[in-house]
Amino acid sequence: MIDETAAAGIERLREERDAVILAHSYQPPEIQDLADHVGDSLELSRKAAATSSSVIVFCGVRFMAETAGILAPDRTVLLPDPDAGCPLADCIEAPALRRMQEMYPDALTVLYVNSPAEVKAECYACCTSANALRVVESVPSEQVIFAPDRNLGTFVSRRTDKQIIIWNGACRCHAAADLEEMRYRKEQWPDAELLVHPETPPEAWEMADAVLGTGGMIRHVEESGAGRFLIGTEEGMVYRLKTLYPDREFMAAGLIHCEDMKRITPAKVLRSLQTLQPRVEVPPGIRERAFRAVARMTEMS
Ligand code: SF4
Repeated sequence: MIDETAAAGIERLREERDAVILAHSYQPPEIQDLADHVGDSLELSRKAAATSSSVIVFCGVRFMAETAGILAPDRTVLLPDPDAGCPLADCIEAPALRRMQEMYPDALTVLYVNSPAEVKAECYACCTSANALRVVESVPSEQVIFAPDRNLGTFVSRRTDKQIIIWNGACRCHAAADLEEMRYRKEQWPDAELLVHPETPPEAWEMADAVLGTGGMIRHVEESGAGRFLIGTEEGMVYRLKTLYPDREFMAAGLIHCEDMKRITPAKVLRSLQTLQPRVEVPPGIRERAFRAVARMTEMS
């Protein structure tokens, strides 16, 4: 529950600052409730690019706020907790990627958007879990370096004829999904469909009814006739689905919890709107090169 003083302050300042509040589906319930838009990385990137608001308050983690800054450079982008990072994004740095690119000169690089801006600047195209396969299929090379998530890279490599060279990084929350707990949940709800994220290990995909990004999970529930779903991604997604589909039942599976996604609080959002800090700014030289890769991601979806 958001306290009333914070809620009233956010409401007033949202208007005064001409701000839009974007929240990822993994954010805590009270943040999802106060946001103007809740969505996956691709949806929020599109919202950031299209917004007419002067200020974007990004309730997510740093790489997401950076992506908003890449797409909307004339806006003020705020990340209410500057320490909200992403261990997956920290798995890759630009010099190391350049060394790999030198080893495979014929390959183009497709980079999962969960990565730092300076690495995006080194890539041909970015992708999200929603469009990773489509982006890989679209790039004009038969050999593709896919970074930094090895599980998503493996997922793509099993569905394309292209040669995929996979970076050995992982989301430590999804990669550590508790498969025993997932099995237990399936026994508890044998009639439920199990939906898992492609950042989870391949063993989880084998148990699942569908392997989908968060946007894909929403579309799947919309179209499915099932009444119950086990959700094998970060637990914030369960709240998102319960809000969208109050007539269905959802339960988290796999004990997937991201501490970084839970750093943003209503008090921090309020403070950000009051001070217009902390800002996320991408240096222009990096932004221009990263923009090409991010723009290809939004075009190819
Ligand atoms: S869930 Fe994984 S990929 Fe997403 S922000 Fe957390 S650590 Fe990064």
